[in-house]
Amino acid sequence: MPIYRDDVVAWIKSVAEIITQNSRYLTELDSAIGDADHGTNMERGFKAVINKLPEISDKDIGTIFKTIGMTLLSTVGGAGGPLYGTWFLQAGVKTAGKMELTLADWTESLEASLSGVIMRGKAELGDKTMVDALTPAVDALKQSITENRPLSAALALSADSAQKGMEATTPLVARKGRASYLGERSAGHQDPGATSTYLMLRAAADVWKESA
Ligand code: ADP
Ligand code: MG
Repeated sequence: MPIYRDDVVAWIKSVAEIITQNSRYLTELDSAIGDADHGTNMERGFKAVINKLPEISDKDIGTIFKTIGMTLLSTVGGAGGPLYGTWFLQAGVKTAGKMELTLADWTESLEASLSGVIMRGKAELGDKTMVDALTPAVDALKQSITENRPLSAALALSADSAQKGMEATTPLVARKGRASYLGERSAGHQDPGATSTYLMLRAAADVWKESA
């Protein structure tokens, strides 16, 4: 079975809850190598998204993603706002008019989000950013298509890969964003943006495993 529009809405609600539950954790990570606001930024953004949901949850997936993108752009602030805004705006372009997503659709959508984030933030793999969690997640989805994995297994593998990418940010020296101002002192801390990206992708695997 595909991922239906209502499954997408359920994912967004789950992300909002998980971001709220992990707000303090994300902010703690950001206090080590940034300015201690990533959790509060993301929580504010997803609270605004939840307030918007009633207006858009009967629309197509593209409209839902685009509206989320614009909402995050205008509410999250910092580096995360434009980057997560771009993530959902690009996803919205790829899924325009769709009422359901196949594994291939979701893969294309997340790949477009990754390209958007890279185009906007100019981060490369290994720069200790959200790109380090998102890239392996997209790669795992693509590989799952080649290997004909069912949707639930593909999503779980994508979340596992994001988790490994997130964990691998710890020893890295940051080369983008605020953390890069610390130079070598940024090593030894997990990147907050890679962590929020992982949480979002794990939520997708958990919420959508029923649809597969
Ligand atoms: P700010 O750094 O402006 O306070 P946040 O704390 O909300 O913004 O977000 C910080 C996160 O944003 C970092 O942990 C990193 O993952 C991500 N980030 C910062 N700059 C970039 C960039 N140029 N490309 C991709 N991700 C980035
Ligand atoms: Mg910050």
